[in-house]
Amino acid sequence: MNNNPNFSSITRSLHHRIDNNRVKPVVTPLYQNSAFSAESPYFYTRKNNPNYEELEQVVSMLEGSAHVISVSTGMAALSAVTNLLRPDDTLVINKYIYGCSHKFFQRFAAYRNIKLIILDLCKKQALDEIPGDVNMVVFETPTNPFLKTVSISQVSERVKQLNPNAWIVVDNTWATPLYQKPLNLGADLCIYSATKFFSGHSDVMGGLISTNNEELAQNLRDDRFYNGSILDPHSAWLLRRSMFTFHLRMDNHQMVAKEMFSFLSDIPQVAKVYYPEIDNQQLKGYGCILFFEIREDLVEKYQSFSKALNLFDTGTGMACVTSMVAQPYTGSHASMTDDEKQEMGLGKNLVRLCFGLETIEDLKQDLRAGFNCIDCDD
Ligand code: PLP
Repeated sequence: MNNNPNFSSITRSLHHRIDNNRVKPVVTPLYQNSAFSAESPYFYTRKNNPNYEELEQVVSMLEGSAHVISVSTGMAALSAVTNLLRPDDTLVINKYIYGCSHKFFQRFAAYRNIKLIILDLCKKQALDEIPGDVNMVVFETPTNPFLKTVSISQVSERVKQLNPNAWIVVDNTWATPLYQKPLNLGADLCIYSATKFFSGHSDVMGGLISTNNEELAQNLRDDRFYNGSILDPHSAWLLRRSMFTFHLRMDNHQMVAKEMFSFLSDIPQVAKVYYPEIDNQQLKGYGCILFFEIREDLVEKYQSFSKALNLFDTGTGMACVTSMVAQPYTGSHASMTDDEKQEMGLGKNLVRLCFGLETIEDLKQDLRAGFNCIDCDD
């Protein structure tokens, strides 16, 4: 029992003593509150909050887009855009796609009575296979896995010929707006797992959607308000913080990825290394995620290789300041059936490496030790 007289009025008045106009912080403080005064334009954090609003403004400037809507995760961004579809609509997705996205589309299509068509959009002839009743096309480029390219302008052009009202959605997570701007190439919506490069520190989850279409943006904001999939203020604050170093991290990732591509290409235990096509038209640079295939006779040695590494953590995270190693077959694409993985050409021999901000020499030394271990233990 609290016996202090006027306790309630004291605690209530305290926060009014902090005058933000006098404090003048050099970065925006964290507005970890759900409610705002009735006179505030923010109203209620599910509707808007200064932290995610500022993040959205920064991303929108970077992307050159009219609108950015932040949500709780990359999967929430994917879910938000596919929610624009109606029963009996036709959704086309690319065959090469993140395993959870693949699973999500299958579930979504089954529950909502959506016609799901999977094409190899990395091949030009797939343009002729896009059905005339298409309503939405979703793809990643570069793709996860294999870093293949889908031509955003060719797919957009073809789809708009078939149905001018269809939407092109590009998952631009791996290219980032620093290296690829899908909205300038014909896409209607661009989505990100902000958990990856935007965050860069494996400490926050988030999703972003950008568009120039006012009506779509309003629709997505209304959906977010009513379904509650907002990005929480602390995550928004962390993501905004990470954006101060975004370009520096990406520059470094790009430099390391190029160097590591040549390094891995010379390793005798490696059969093939995947690196995306940087054509300077669509894709103008690339970060830190590479794939390689272990030689066929050494496929069972992935565990020996990954365990021997000291600088690479095993796990699903990526695109951050620390290096990571993963086997997509059992990791990012675990939710797909063996047959589906086989159809995609994804085997246990595929390894994903994400390079952090460690020095190149240290990374090479660590990898050499890993590859030596593949050969030595039996
Ligand atoms: N899109 C891509 C290309 C991804 O790689 C991922 C996650 O790895 C996602 C979307 C999902 O993002 P999140 O984990 O933030 O929900």
